[in-house]
Amino acid sequence: MLETRLGSNQLFETIFHNTQEMILVIDGQGKILLANKVFLANLKLQEPEVTGKKLKDFVSPIYEDHSFYDQIRETLRSKDSWQGDLYLRGKENLYPLYVRIKPFANPDRISRTMYLFSARDLSSEIVRLNHNLACFDQLTSLPNRFMFKKKLEYALEQGKRFQFNIGLLYINLDNFKYINKSYGYLAGDELLMQVSRRLETSARKADILGYFGGDEFVVALVNIALPRLAATIANRFLVKISLPFLVQQEKFNLGASIGISVFPADGSDYETLVCCAETAMHSLKEQPEPENSYRFFQQEMNFDSSLRLRLESDLRKALHKEEFELFFQPIVSLESQNISGLEALLRWRHPERGLIAPNQFIPIAEELGLIIPIGEWAIQSACRQAGSWQRLGIPPLEISVNLSQIQFRDKDILEKIKAIITESGIDPALLQIEITESSISEDIQAAVAVLQGLKDLGVKIAIDDFGTGTSSLGTLKNLPVDTLKLDRSFIRSLPESSNDQAIVQAILSLGKIMDLKIIAEGIETQDQLEFLQNTRCDAYQGFYYSRPLPGKEIAELLQNEILK
Ligand code: C2E
Ligand code: MG
Ligand code: MG
Repeated sequence: MLETRLGSNQLFETIFHNTQEMILVIDGQGKILLANKVFLANLKLQEPEVTGKKLKDFVSPIYEDHSFYDQIRETLRSKDSWQGDLYLRGKENLYPLYVRIKPFANPDRISRTMYLFSARDLSSEIVRLNHNLACFDQLTSLPNRFMFKKKLEYALEQGKRFQFNIGLLYINLDNFKYINKSYGYLAGDELLMQVSRRLETSARKADILGYFGGDEFVVALVNIALPRLAATIANRFLVKISLPFLVQQEKFNLGASIGISVFPADGSDYETLVCCAETAMHSLKEQPEPENSYRFFQQEMNFDSSLRLRLESDLRKALHKEEFELFFQPIVSLESQNISGLEALLRWRHPERGLIAPNQFIPIAEELGLIIPIGEWAIQSACRQAGSWQRLGIPPLEISVNLSQIQFRDKDILEKIKAIITESGIDPALLQIEITESSISEDIQAAVAVLQGLKDLGVKIAIDDFGTGTSSLGTLKNLPVDTLKLDRSFIRSLPESSNDQAIVQAILSLGKIMDLKIIAEGIETQDQLEFLQNTRCDAYQGFYYSRPLPGKEIAELLQNEILK
């Protein structure tokens, strides 16, 4: 017998390394115990780079969505193997593979399962092309938004685990639109390709490049020793971009504005970091400064500093000058499709700047302590408005008003709300106060006292933007809360994202057990609405039904509803 001639280990090794398939032996925790030579050769890796690592470390970041792993686990539970396409990352490239994963009992310890991973290289052109189309921009060959997000999210996970900094450069070319217009799109495209190649040659191997379309590029600087090194690297890119380009025998000079954000200082997720870097880039564009420069994101950047000083002084006078207005957004019952309530949303009608959204001035008002009188004005106006609609014959509707964390901590808040209720004559059961999770989670004891005080006044309480903070449904269990408003970040990717579907369903079922009313925020599409109609959600609000509208327009909308 072969076994006696070769010895079983030697036989095993010979077969293991000489088949045409790539083979791994993986333990129950996903750790790679053995890798055959074909696997190492195809991915251009050395054995120590593979054994002891997790399979996940080699899987393309496009699968970082955990539902993918859940799906494999699920299949392995019900069938004897999982088969499918998978991209693995080798030293230089992503490799498309057709993979089979089959569990087997560990012969040494019967109870523990191990996995045999066998794969065929599928590097055929078609497979590559599909992957390329989905993940790379065809003009610049750089990762597109989707792929860049996946790669950055993967880097962020590593950054959290190994505690390193990641700089994000948001690069916007100066003058590009002018070139496109004057010399035509072909010249523009050629120029974008050349810019991409220059960025590529200036980036380090570990950096992640991306093209966001138009004249916008991004570079994630993975693992920089100090946040300020991002500036040195940004400068290097600026120098490269400012060297003349030769397109169609014509010399072009370009510049760029680079906004910089840094993980973890400015944020720890993809959206926040991109948003901060983009804000920094825009603030640079608004400045009458020399072009071709970079700027770090700063918290107060929504406005640059001189503008901010002017706004502060305007904001101090705005209440007195009656420049605030309330807009109202309908909250619609999923069962009856009728408007069941309204959320009052503050606007500042600035005499020169026009209508300013709350996210732009409320943080300043909070810092200056002005939110206390402004917020009080908002509650008072909402209650008065509700009274005047009733006098127009509109049936009473629940009205929600947002309460800032600063107001929530104001020791006179209960007295103030009580006085407003008495003065306006509103049924307190029709007033709902919206507070965010963070108002509660900072000091639970104090929060319970205020919430109970509000309950005693007969007012309803909603937790706004639920799911974005740190509190859990467990924390809410002991609080006198009536309503949860599911943050729109969970809604945005519905119904496509199975992950978000699962989160929404879970919050809805737990919320129901706790007898809470649940309102979904940010419904923008018919598909999102249809998804919710098949859940236990009670109501929704969002642009799909109506944007927030001025009081007068809302009154018309409500009167039309009655006539329906
Ligand atoms: P919020 O309480 O979560 O209000 C909902 C926000 O989502 C509103 O923004 C609304 O216009 C927006 N929104 C509604 N439907 C959609 C949709 O389908 N898609 C998208 N993309 N957005 C949608 P707005 O009016 O800019 O208010 C922003 C935030 O400012 C509010 O968030 C709230 O936290 C705060 N705020 C507004 N009014 C007041 C107020 O009177 N007092 C206090 N303290 N905060 C306020
Ligand atoms: Mg709200
Ligand atoms: Mg909200």
